[in-house]
Amino acid sequence: MSKNIEGKVVVITGASSGLGESTARHLASLGASVVLAARREDRLNAIVQDITAAGGKATALAADVTRREDLENLIQHAVASFGRVDVMINNAGLMAISPIAELRVDEWDRMIDINIKGVMYGIAAALPVFQKQDSGHFINISSVAGIKVFSPGGSVYSGTKYAVRAISDGLRHEVGKSIRTTTIEPGAVDSELKFGSGHEASSQAVQEFYKSAIPAESVARAIAFAIEQPADVDINEIVLRPTSQDF
Ligand code: NDP
Repeated sequence: MSKNIEGKVVVITGASSGLGESTARHLASLGASVVLAARREDRLNAIVQDITAAGGKATALAADVTRREDLENLIQHAVASFGRVDVMINNAGLMAISPIAELRVDEWDRMIDINIKGVMYGIAAALPVFQKQDSGHFINISSVAGIKVFSPGGSVYSGTKYAVRAISDGLRHEVGKSIRTTTIEPGAVDSELKFGSGHEASSQAVQEFYKSAIPAESVARAIAFAIEQPADVDINEIVLRPTSQDF
């Protein structure tokens, strides 16, 4: 258990695998009440069962972050289940790597919809609750690709992750009086993300690059660190990557 995490209500998008799943499990083990969201409901339910069986508090709701009403329902579900929302983790994401000249415009659209608009809809849903409570914490998942352009192949993905960083910092500036905002920028982390590209050559290169990936728990621990700080301390950004990764 952790003093500043125990009892907090934490909503996590993209919680059916990877960083989101790992973060849900870790925070629940530290005493948080976790609300999991993603599209694959069966996976969410299995994770909730595990957490509950281990004595933790968890609930799940199927949600597609590209649909604003799903995020509104998710926050309402969290409030109905646990009475409030302390932390909103905008984590759901897609990494579809391919050279721009391949013009995989459908994948660009999906990344923009999930990685940028999904984060915005999460902010729009949780912010009124945070303002009413006069407290809350946004944790938005950007990437090292949001600090340096991952090119060739990752230009659009990088664009979405730069956007997350920009929006997060602006959000912190605009609403920061009693609401905390943290941006997490991980390097290669082992998850299903590396399978997001439909472009064969890029997909092979990504999977090679991910051989040095670190476990998703590394990010879960960084997120816990940001949450457990006292209310007057806002950890603005955390960059973490495999020791051996230069990019
Ligand atoms: P995963 O592919 O394992 O997880 C992505 C999660 O997002 C899944 O739970 C997926 O669930 C969910 N998701 C995807 N699309 C939607 C949607 N439309 N609506 C709701 N949920 C959706 O990858 P990671 O855990 O690695 O990725 C999590 C975040 O971390 C992403 O934002 C990613 O960009 C970021 N990141 C990851 C890094 C890495 O190396 N792994 C490095 C830097 C950043 P479902 O399919 O069930 O909806």
